[in-house]
Amino acid sequence: MTEELPGSQGAPLPPNGSHRPLNVFFDVDNTLIMWNGKLRNHTRDVFQSLKDAGHTIYVWSGVGIRRWDMKRHNLDEFVTDYFVKPLDDHHARLVTLGVPLTPDFVIDDHKTVVDAFGGYHIPDMAAPDDEHLLRVLEAINEMATLGDVEEPGENVAV
Ligand SMILES: [Mg+2]
Repeated sequence: MTEELPGSQGAPLPPNGSHRPLNVFFDVDNTLIMWNGKLRNHTRDVFQSLKDAGHTIYVWSGVGIRRWDMKRHNLDEFVTDYFVKPLDDHHARLVTLGVPLTPDFVIDDHKTVVDAFGGYHIPDMAAPDDEHLLRVLEAINEMATLGDVEEPGENVAV
């Protein structure tokens, strides 16, 4: 039996009233998986935190669909979908590459991708104590909070 609360059909409210869920796109090579095949520090914890905060994780790559790589590192459960990443003319090529949404935040070692969509330009090398993905998590949660500047109770059709 399903329960439907009266009044639940109204305008949806974000979980804590000031938090906007974001579509987060991660690059793979030298962003999550480093030159030696190892996962960048904190990847799993950051993926878990993003999901817990209500964000949606996508993985894309200029060299194809990387589901297998994410499965190999036990990360597939966090990833909503996989796409081929545009390497130039980024916004226009989203359509031709079949990416059905525009990223809110990208994490990439290639600056052009970050310049195109906004996000975090991550170094392509990681020291043993690398903490860039923790900075990424902070930046995403900051954007999710500061990004919502609507007046409380305001009803905006989007
Ligand atoms: Mg890369």
